[in-house]
Amino acid sequence: MTSKNLLLLPGDGIGPEVTAQARCVAEHLMPDLNIDTGLVGGASIDAHGEPLTVDTMVLAKQSDAVLLGAVGGPKWNDVERHLRPEMGLLQLRKGMDVFANLRPAFCFPALLEASSLKRDVVEGLDIMIVRELTSGVYFGEPRGIERGLGDKSFGFETSRYTAGEIKRVARVAMDIARGRGGQLCSTEKANVMESGLFWRETVTELHAACGDGVELRHMYADACAMELVRQPKQFDVILAANLFGDILSDAAAMLTGSIGMLPSASLGVDGAPGLYEPVHGSAPDIAGQGVANPCAAILSLEMAFRWSLNQPGLADRLFAAVSKALEAGARTKDVGGALSTAEMGDAIIAAL
Ligand code: NAD
Repeated sequence: MTSKNLLLLPGDGIGPEVTAQARCVAEHLMPDLNIDTGLVGGASIDAHGEPLTVDTMVLAKQSDAVLLGAVGGPKWNDVERHLRPEMGLLQLRKGMDVFANLRPAFCFPALLEASSLKRDVVEGLDIMIVRELTSGVYFGEPRGIERGLGDKSFGFETSRYTAGEIKRVARVAMDIARGRGGQLCSTEKANVMESGLFWRETVTELHAACGDGVELRHMYADACAMELVRQPKQFDVILAANLFGDILSDAAAMLTGSIGMLPSASLGVDGAPGLYEPVHGSAPDIAGQGVANPCAAILSLEMAFRWSLNQPGLADRLFAAVSKALEAGARTKDVGGALSTAEMGDAIIAAL
């Protein structure tokens, strides 16, 4: 078997604490995995004066998967905008060209009470949100701020998608839907945005050409936000552009209890390395205390096994072990328990 390479970028705050547990799990489950480490975010600013070095970018592109902890923190609040820790993450996503961001929202049976919604609304919830990550209004040109015009001063940006950008992410969403419940809900604002209308037309065309086995429906993004909290179990896979996907996936994250439970994967073209990271940030308020929940980082490793390391069997085992550990009462503080980060990691390894 050819050995695979994982680049670990722990980052800042609780990032190193939670990725240390993910590393223990990786070493336990896949002893022949080559694990390299690098710096990103504030840690890289401190060492090299920039949030991501060319060398780290090269390492990322040469790996099979990158597992990142989190970046940022008050220590770097005053650095110039283009040198902020978060820029390291944006540069990494853009440089790796990971255009499809997969954010699952599922509710572990043991954590049903942690959701702010009623038990019967979230019980059995299992949604995959596929968000376009490298284009749209966050990147479109022209953009800027025209100052000095009094009340006529303005800020603006451009919501722009090419057919190719829409098709490549929609194809990923259709493939994923085909492997799950076969339902795809594509969201936009076709009623008021030209780029939204174009998104709807392009997804419809693609579906007609190669959507066998997938039932497609369209929904306005605002209606989707409402339906996510009203009746979330109606969704299987949701497809969204960058901005709407950002909002919808954060809303969906809260259905499931703690942000400390949620992983993500960002994928590029077939065969290119994927980027895996917990949804949460560096949590400066609890960093250094050893109480952060490592589940999001460990479940991000689970996604790496599935999507980049060609180890679906290990992924299934790991997911089952997290569920079993929770079932047995293993909990960190954010989900009502008292275990330390390391104890939670140990409980998951013991359940493998
Ligand atoms: P955050 O996700 O770091 O924290 C929000 C809240 O959730 C905090 O109360 C925190 O203690 C808690 N929390 C987060 N992860 C947890 C875990 N694993 N276990 C237990 N509790 C957890 O968001 P924030 O406070 O808005 O941001 C803090 C810093 O992180 C900022 O510098 C921000 O820019 C950065 N950030 C980075 C990323 C990333 O690296 N992908 C994402 C979001 C925020």
